[in-house]
Amino acid sequence: MDTHVARSQANEEEAALLDAIDKWLARDVRPHVLKLEHADEYPHEMVEQMKELGLFGATIDPEYGGLGLSATTYAKIVERIAEVWMSLSGIFNSHLIMAACVSRMGTAAQKAHWLPKFATGEIRGGLALTEPDCGTDLQAIRTRARRDGDHYVINGTKTWISNGIQGSCFALLVKTDPEATPRHKGMSMVIAPKGPGFTVSKKLEKLGYKGIDSAELVFDDYRIPADHLIGGEEGRGLQTALGGLELGRINVAARGVGLASAALKDSVKYSQIRKTMGKPICQHQAIQLKLGEMATRVQAARLLTYDAARAYDAGERCDMEAGMAKFYASEAAVENSLEAMRIHGGYGYSKEYHVERYYRDAPLMCIGEGTNEIQRMIIAKQLIERFPA
Ligand SMILES: Cc1cc2nc3c(=O)[nH]c(=O)nc-3n(C[C@H](O)[C@H](O)[C@H](O)COP(=O)(O)OP(=O)(O)OC[C@H]3O[C@@H](n4cnc5c(N)ncnc54)[C@H](O)[C@@H]3O)c2cc1C
Repeated sequence: MDTHVARSQANEEEAALLDAIDKWLARDVRPHVLKLEHADEYPHEMVEQMKELGLFGATIDPEYGGLGLSATTYAKIVERIAEVWMSLSGIFNSHLIMAACVSRMGTAAQKAHWLPKFATGEIRGGLALTEPDCGTDLQAIRTRARRDGDHYVINGTKTWISNGIQGSCFALLVKTDPEATPRHKGMSMVIAPKGPGFTVSKKLEKLGYKGIDSAELVFDDYRIPADHLIGGEEGRGLQTALGGLELGRINVAARGVGLASAALKDSVKYSQIRKTMGKPICQHQAIQLKLGEMATRVQAARLLTYDAARAYDAGERCDMEAGMAKFYASEAAVENSLEAMRIHGGYGYSKEYHVERYYRDAPLMCIGEGTNEIQRMIIAKQLIERFPA
């Protein structure tokens, strides 16, 4: 097939998929968001619909039953979903990072065994890196996997794990050699399905990101077969995690775009309805300045995100691009959600509107998948590497 035909077919497929997502969001998600959000209730029915839409296999290769979507199409889907209810995107995003760890670094046998089950959503889960004493400094983790014949015995605690309660399997970062120097040489990533010795010790209460479960996980002499070591070789855990986080950063950026855009759309609408001094508030210059800035932020965040996704799809190194997108889009979400609240006046503070949720959800985008302090440092390091004096 010539490239032109292939591209137009891919565009048509993308348009059909995005259309199906839009219809699903309007019909089955939007009407229920306020209720589920404020009850902090897990959206079981929506998860079943997400399975049918193939979202749990969105970026998994079709060879293993996934949709094999590009990062670009994936980002567009995440943006749409986050515009309606950001929490929903977390249910399949961290699951797909777990899948990315297996597809990028796993053995042929591991891919054949795990990916088809991840793709259907039969096995769902996420990524377990963070511990009570460390998040940014992952090399300081203390969860220990000790080899015992043809098994590993794991002890330790992970915290803030998305899908920790509803998920059944996690890509788990462990130390296989705590004495190794450099420290990352003693780190490995294993596939950890729930079983004896693996317990959920706590559901974590949080400011936003409601509906989706965040949990503390405890491993107490938890045993897994040695063939659950991703890639079959110890010492590659940090590399596996960082590889998965590249896609993760694009997805957090897309969530930021979705939130920033939702804040803008609600504000454009509300400012035409609400009147003060005898005219809609959108006719006051003070409000227009806000709308102008908000719209520019959304567009800039979106273009940065698509640029990072394009680089990822082209197989180019994209830590700087993904870092810029994640940093800018998440800050845009924070700023736009606050501006939306100002534009909505008292109603922005009301639980009957969506705006207060954007305001609670947005800061998470600045923390997850590497804080924005770290993103700026990654960008600077890349600048120095790419443009030596
Ligand atoms: C709702 C939610 C869901 C999450 N989901 C998951 C999940 O599914 N899986 C998972 O593994 N984790 C998850 N996390 C954890 C998240 O990834 C961490 O919170 C994040 O990586 C930051 O780590 P920390 O909280 O330990 O902060 P710390 O690492 O203790 O950082 C504290 C502050 O110091 C700054 N800082 C740290 N080191 C440096 C440095 N070298 N230079 C400059 N500044 C620095 C940070 O930017 C931050 O401002 C989640 C967190 C939340 C809140």
